[in-house]
Amino acid sequence: METVPWNIVTGCERLTPGCDNCPTYWAYLKEGKDYHPQFNVDVLREPLLNDVPTNYLVAMGSDMFHEAIKLEEITQIFEVMTLATCHTFEVGTKRIERMQVMSERHLTWKENMIAVTAVEDAKYRWRIDCLREINARRMVMFGPMVGRVGEIDMAGIEVAGVVVEDWGKARVIDPEWADELTEQCQEQGVRITNSVWLCEV
Ligand code: SF4
Repeated sequence: METVPWNIVTGCERLTPGCDNCPTYWAYLKEGKDYHPQFNVDVLREPLLNDVPTNYLVAMGSDMFHEAIKLEEITQIFEVMTLATCHTFEVGTKRIERMQVMSERHLTWKENMIAVTAVEDAKYRWRIDCLREINARRMVMFGPMVGRVGEIDMAGIEVAGVVVEDWGKARVIDPEWADELTEQCQEQGVRITNSVWLCEV
């Protein structure tokens, strides 16, 4: 199945040190484009117009749970994902607390949707606990790694990946940090999408 971005939301804002090398931010800056978060209603129906089963990365290079994106807009995105049953959707956020609260109150996750969060070092392991509270299929991307994550509890997590910076002023990591995550995921029966995923801009 082909994996493509669905740019239903574009733009974002630095949240944590893991964002400092955000490839999309730097690409927008280079091109003089506005990186403020915005909902792009013109592409809302895009998945519904596509008959070919596709894996959509929702708001890639952005964060649809940024505070600037309204509940009504997020609800519309979920309505489309619910209707587009032939596709799968990976919905990633670092603003996992907002995703968690909205999921409790307003959102219904279907089988074709997967909730994703990122953990860049040990300080953000708590995001896995927030993700676990969401009644959805769940995925954790470790990265871009900026430090050791250490011991992790992956109960309830279906799939994980490890992302190592290979762009911009890439921060150096100890390969053992990635290896110990991979080993723990394997021990806990969590599928690994890729042990090391190198992004290029
Ligand atoms: S949350 Fe993600 S998309 Fe937003 S600035 Fe950080 S790295 Fe970039």
